[in-house]
Amino acid sequence: MWEHVELFDISKDLVPGGVHSPVRSFKGLKSTPRFIESAEGAYLQDVEKKTYIDFCMSFGPLILGHKDEDVKEEAMCALNKGWTYGACEPYSLELAEFIVDNISFIEQIRFVNSGTEAVMTAIRLARAHTERDKIIKFNGCYHGHTDSMLIKAGSGVQNISETSSKGIPQSIANDTIVFELGDEEQIKTYMKKHGKEVAAIIIEPLPANCGLLPQKKEFLTFLREETTKYNALLIFDEVITGFRVAFGGMSAKLGIIPDLVTYGKIIGGGFPVGAVAGPKKIMLNLAPVGNVYQAGTLSANPVAMVAGLKTLQKLEPSAYDQLSKYSANITTILNQWLQKYQNGRYKMFSIVREDSLFWITPKENITRACDIPSDLSEEFSPLFESMLAHGIYLAPSAYEIGFISLAHNNSVCNQLSKRLWNN
Ligand SMILES: *Cc1c(COP(=O)(O)O)cnc(C)c1O
Repeated sequence: MWEHVELFDISKDLVPGGVHSPVRSFKGLKSTPRFIESAEGAYLQDVEKKTYIDFCMSFGPLILGHKDEDVKEEAMCALNKGWTYGACEPYSLELAEFIVDNISFIEQIRFVNSGTEAVMTAIRLARAHTERDKIIKFNGCYHGHTDSMLIKAGSGVQNISETSSKGIPQSIANDTIVFELGDEEQIKTYMKKHGKEVAAIIIEPLPANCGLLPQKKEFLTFLREETTKYNALLIFDEVITGFRVAFGGMSAKLGIIPDLVTYGKIIGGGFPVGAVAGPKKIMLNLAPVGNVYQAGTLSANPVAMVAGLKTLQKLEPSAYDQLSKYSANITTILNQWLQKYQNGRYKMFSIVREDSLFWITPKENITRACDIPSDLSEEFSPLFESMLAHGIYLAPSAYEIGFISLAHNNSVCNQLSKRLWNN
C-alpha cells in the first residue's frame, strides 16, 4: 500500500513543492497532503484507505457531488465517440445555447479551459472595447493567475506577499488599481480623476477566495453605476458563484447586470472549462470577427462540454432548495461542534454561510480582506488537523472556503455528527 509521506517525498523531487497547484501542498499545516485515490458522492478515499467527508469538493466544480452517475454516463458516451476534434462540433453549441437561453443578459459565450483564461480574455476584451488600460480590482479577490490579476489576490497567494507573485513586471502592475472591498469613497475620488482611463472594474460579487466576504448589494449597485457613469465595464467574476448561489450566479440573485461575466468550476462539471460571456456588442470584438485575439487547442473539449451541460441541466430550482437545506444542516452541526466541543479550543471560530458556501471564520462580520486577523493560519492549523483526524476534509488553508454539494444529504449529515462526536 502507498503511504502519503512516501508519495509526497517522491513528488517533491519531481514537481516543485510536490504539487501542481500550491494550496494542495498543506503549506503551514502539520500533516502531509493526503493522496486521494478515489471519490464517491460526498466522500474521498485516500491511498491509505481512509475515507473523508469532503468539504473541499475540488474547490467548487462538484455541485452534484463526486462521480455523479448522469454526468459520468454523458462523459463516457462522449468519450466513446472521440475526445478532441479541433473543429466545430455540436456539443459546445448545446452548452452555449443552454446558457444563453437561461441567463438573460448573455447573448454570446466563448469557452476556454480554466477560470484564469476566462478572466484573461475578459480583461483583454474590456481593454479593447473601451480603448483604455487601467483595471480596478479588490484586495482579497482572486481572479486566477494571469499577471495583471496577481495583485493583492486571495486564494493560494493570500498568505504569500502583497504583490502576490514575483515575475510580474511593474509596468503591468501599474495598470491594476486595488481598493478595499466596500470602499465607495476612495473609488469615487479615484474615478473622478481617472475614470476615463479605467477599462473595467472586476469583482467577485461574492468574494470567496479570501475567506467568504459577503458584500452589501448597495456596494455592487454602486460599482454598476460608477462604471456606467464613466463608460467603463463592470466584470463579474462568477467562477465560483456562477450556477452555485443561483443558476445565474450573484448577478441573477441580486438583479445586477454586469457587462461581462466569467465562469469556471461548475460550468465544466469537474472537467476543465471556463467561459467569458456577455452581450454581442462586446463579445464580437473577439477573433475571428473582431481583433481581440483568443484561441485554444483543446477549447470546448467535447467530453467537458457534455459533462458541463448535464451538470447545468440538473440544476433546476428544486436542486437549489435542496442544496440550501443540506447546507443549513451541515453548517449547523459544524458550528455546534466549533462552539461546544474540544473544551472550547475552537470557540473563536464560527461558520459564516452563503448558500452552499461556508467559511470557518475567526470573527463575525468580516467583509474586507484587511480585517482578517494575521494569525489566522496558526489558529486554523490545529483545527484542520483535528477535522482531518475525524475523517473530515476541509480545504487545506484558513483562507479557502468550504463547498457543500447535492451529495451532502441527510445520511452524510448523520455521518458528520458521528465522526465529530464519537471519536
Ligand atoms: C478559481 C477561480 C478562478 C481561477 O480559475 P482556475 O480554473 O483555477 O484558473 C478565477 N476567479 C475566481 C473567482 C475563482 O474562484
